[in-house]
Amino acid sequence: MAQFRSWFPTDADCADYLDWLRWPDGFVCPCCSSIGDWSDLVGIHRCTGCGRRFSATSGTIFHRTRTPLTVWFEAAWLMTVSKQGISALNLQRTTGLGSYQSAWTMLQKFRTVMSPSHHVLLTGRIEMDESYLGGKGKPGVTGRGAAGKFVVAGAIERSGRSFGRARLQILPDATSASLERFIRQRIQPGSIVVTDGWCGYLKATKGAGVQHEIHNVSDSGMPAHIPLPGVHRLFSLVRRVLDGTYQGSVQPEQLQGYLDEFTFRFNRRHAQSRGLVFFRLLEASVGAGPSSYQNVARVHRRTGTVTSTGPVAEYYAPRSLENLSIARPWRSA
Ligand SMILES: [Zn+2]
Repeated sequence: MAQFRSWFPTDADCADYLDWLRWPDGFVCPCCSSIGDWSDLVGIHRCTGCGRRFSATSGTIFHRTRTPLTVWFEAAWLMTVSKQGISALNLQRTTGLGSYQSAWTMLQKFRTVMSPSHHVLLTGRIEMDESYLGGKGKPGVTGRGAAGKFVVAGAIERSGRSFGRARLQILPDATSASLERFIRQRIQPGSIVVTDGWCGYLKATKGAGVQHEIHNVSDSGMPAHIPLPGVHRLFSLVRRVLDGTYQGSVQPEQLQGYLDEFTFRFNRRHAQSRGLVFFRLLEASVGAGPSSYQNVARVHRRTGTVTSTGPVAEYYAPRSLENLSIARPWRSA
């Protein structure tokens, strides 16, 4: 925390950090890929090839934001240091933001860059299961067919007694076709997928080209968490975050964002310092285009429930969190 505070006291320091993350080896034009720039303003690059002007925030989730970067950095820090994440209401209170929507929008934009890359697949021995999360399903209803909730597939690498990386994804249903699509997108062919006895997995694993190992829960008479301890632990942790941080009030169109945020932190749980997780989040933020953020906006316009949970446009410019040293203000009060 002390290091975070000392590294980023001003908005200009934050901007320089993003510049360094985006162009570690010097400016490369995002438009024409020319190398080299000249500049008349600090933090602005003018391309020598096409003449266009860029800053580190151009075309990223920070594009044309009215929220000062110190506030963005504070939000990223709070999102990554806590195991449970932070709700928009809590972020608003902590940073003194005047608007809930600004807090909500920042968190939501960060979530868009937290989804795991499709190029990185789980390998080795993987436990997989599906569960029902979010929505307003009846409490205590479990199994395949809980009303009002969403089918979420979970997978986690397992080697010996330790667990590796995980993936969580909403599925349209628990049919073998949906399960197969999930396995194809998230799991390396040839891996061993361990599941319960649900018949959908037979076809899904065969179709996706992975080996299948069945632990039949109902035949063995064991509680479900014994043969598949990793994936059940994963679901119980994510359920705790949804019920705790978000108090169970999860809109369907937001659930995948929450799952991505959870997985982003979970997969970096062994990181030596929280600062490293913060670094990864900001690195992803300047690496991704604004299109992912526009997708969020589109989803919300379609559902028509946006006004209560947060419109994406920023009409309000929050105050900076710049650490301008004032000599002992309590004395002059
Ligand atoms: Zn250019």
